[in-house]
Amino acid sequence: MFTADKLQQHIVANVREFVTRKIIPVASQLEHKDEYPHALVAEMAEMGLFGCNVTEEFGGLGLDYTTFALVIEEIARGWMSMVGPIGTHSVICDIIQRFGTEEQKQTYLPGLASGERRGGLALSEADAGTDVQRLRTTATRVAGGYRINGAKMWITNGRHGNTFVLAAKTDTKADPPHRGISAFIIEKGEGFNVVRDIDKLGYKGVETCELYFDNFFVPEQNLLGGTEGAGFKHIMTGLESERINVAARGVGLARAAFEDAIRYAQQRTTFGKPICEHQTIQIKLAEMGTKIEAARLLTYSAAAKKDRGERCDLEAGMAKLFATETAQEVALEALRIHGGAGYAKDLNVERYYRDAPLLIVGGGTNELQRLVIAKRLLEKYPSQ
Ligand SMILES: Cc1cc2nc3c(=O)[nH]c(=O)nc-3n(C[C@H](O)[C@H](O)[C@H](O)COP(=O)(O)OP(=O)(O)OC[C@H]3O[C@@H](n4cnc5c(N)ncnc54)[C@H](O)[C@@H]3O)c2cc1C
Repeated sequence: MFTADKLQQHIVANVREFVTRKIIPVASQLEHKDEYPHALVAEMAEMGLFGCNVTEEFGGLGLDYTTFALVIEEIARGWMSMVGPIGTHSVICDIIQRFGTEEQKQTYLPGLASGERRGGLALSEADAGTDVQRLRTTATRVAGGYRINGAKMWITNGRHGNTFVLAAKTDTKADPPHRGISAFIIEKGEGFNVVRDIDKLGYKGVETCELYFDNFFVPEQNLLGGTEGAGFKHIMTGLESERINVAARGVGLARAAFEDAIRYAQQRTTFGKPICEHQTIQIKLAEMGTKIEAARLLTYSAAAKKDRGERCDLEAGMAKLFATETAQEVALEALRIHGGAGYAKDLNVERYYRDAPLLIVGGGTNELQRLVIAKRLLEKYPSQ
């Protein structure tokens, strides 16, 4: 059983109150209109949530990974899209804090922590998602910096964000290709084009964009860490914390679906009794509750390992895989328990069902997680 300490309980209680009072009452309406939640995002900035994983030295809250996961779980319970503005934002804070030069930290972290700067990660391309080493965006050296040319796909916060970590090839012939990938901290300007907001199944209200870079100039001091060819490693390390974050989203979403389902099962009667007294429904509730608890434990165990500074790609992969598959399963079971009502837009269950699949694709698909998990297990158990 995971037990939050006093500080964690305090932070979670504040976030839960915000979610219950402010997010849940408007989530459905904003989601169906696919409207950006400006007021809620501003309030999240006031609460300091844009600086969750930025240290106090740079104006952030300096939360550990476990507390951050607890915060994400609470927000996702209210409306998963509300995690969007701080999700990849926090990944880039993490990357800059770990690998940025002192000047880069001083320049970018305070604004990112306050939410004045809104961040995103510009990694994926139309032909390079799982196989990200195939990315084709180039960064060509010119006087004083680099010129970026290429296109990025699926970039969350692409429209409302203003500061991104971008991956581009500084050496297109490098072998293996990842050695030619560099990361840059970029700000919007001439040559940075938001082509479109992608119309999605779920995760609405927060934008996911296609970007196009046309001879976009980046000063040389914005090469992350000042080193060419290290971008792949830097970003992949950041994505380890993203996996814990995505697992926590899964736990939050699954909890929301479960809580709605168990309440409905207690109220809805058929054949003269509440449906929760039918054994078939009880079995569903038991399975849902058990899987959610297991997902939570895996998530907090991975986060605790990361907090201890230990390698945790295996645990983060397992947590991401299990928690997000659980979210998908629980969302469907919640819909079934609601019968026809689960299919209508009047209730939140249909939203959970549309939001859940992103979790099995984003942050590295679950097929990729299985490969990573198997690789690590085979290393742990070498053949004799
Ligand atoms: C809503 C949304 C938001 C996103 N936000 C961002 C963002 O902010 N920044 C960003 O950079 N990216 C973002 N992404 C991109 C996301 O990370 C990619 O979609 C994901 O990595 C999968 O890449 P792909 O879509 O190219 O699928 P592909 O890589 O083409 O995969 C297609 C299928 O093949 C499987 N597959 C691929 N390779 C293997 C293999 N070796 N073995 C087994 N199966 C394999 C995959 O698991 C998948 O099932 C977002 C995506 C979505 C949908």
